[in-house]
Amino acid sequence: MIPYQHSALNFGVGYDVGRKREGKPNEDNFGDDSDLTLTEYDMVQKGYLYIVADGMGGAAGGATASKMAVEHTLSYYYQDLGTEPLYCLDRAIQNANAQIYQLGNSDLSYLGMGTTIVGAIFDGDMLHIGHVGDSRAYLLREGELLQLTKDHSLVQEQVRVGLLTAEEAATHPQRNMLSRNLGAETQARPDLVSHRIYRGDIILLCSDGLWGEVSDEEMALLLHQYEPATAAQKLVDLANEHGGSDNICLIIRKVDWFTYHVAEAKPMRTEAEIDTLPLPNVPATKQPEPQVPMPSGWAIAATEAQVPLMGLFAGALFLSFLMLFVLGNGLI
Ligand code: CA
Repeated sequence: MIPYQHSALNFGVGYDVGRKREGKPNEDNFGDDSDLTLTEYDMVQKGYLYIVADGMGGAAGGATASKMAVEHTLSYYYQDLGTEPLYCLDRAIQNANAQIYQLGNSDLSYLGMGTTIVGAIFDGDMLHIGHVGDSRAYLLREGELLQLTKDHSLVQEQVRVGLLTAEEAATHPQRNMLSRNLGAETQARPDLVSHRIYRGDIILLCSDGLWGEVSDEEMALLLHQYEPATAAQKLVDLANEHGGSDNICLIIRKVDWFTYHVAEAKPMRTEAEIDTLPLPNVPATKQPEPQVPMPSGWAIAATEAQVPLMGLFAGALFLSFLMLFVLGNGLI
């Protein structure tokens, strides 16, 4: 268990290799904005991004793929100059996918590697989630646990269309097979969704090493009873008590303050509205500066010399008018 506690947020992480894979690399990885050097401006503009990824594919491949997913998504997200978090997250996940796909198809030792990803951005009073695979995001609100993501796994796809029951899926021999993951195709297909969040909400991101061992009721109870850091440790311990058959990785964030005042927060959008949002604010290609010919040295000198000359001319004109006025009126 790696002790990890974010200093500024009500936040906890659980990370453990589990009971059945001791001595092997943990193929899960996690990360958050504290892994990068960011300014307060970055955080207000882009929110706080947390990621859990669960790798697969060979001894080195799984751990590498999940690490790449976390690192590439985080760095790309905060470098993107776009202002719509969900679109930036989509692009960041696409970029991570491309990197993993490229490595998996160019180096035989990484052949077939892939990873899940679930990323959550806390952006004012909005929560934006992007995910691929079967790592999940949950929300605990007023004691009730809601799963915010739909697994991209073969059995869960069949449950959704009524070909399998949830009970059949839970024990199905192919329950670990994913229908989507990062690194398998040239394009990633993340699900992207936004929700409004409220003070007191608790968000949990986790790999299947947690949700495969711990029931929803147990998760809800521990999240409700303990502060995030303690709840994270207790959830890891419980997953291990129940067998610890897989690597365990989880992040808990309690919403006890917002990144900026709620009154300034962006209005809530429905999923349908998000689908019809205009294209993201891709920074416009920088246009070349208009080519204004620079004046030559002589031209600059002439221009500067014209200023006192014009003054003299105006002065002479004024004196002429004055003389005409004086003479015209017979004052002399
Ligand atoms: Ca796993």
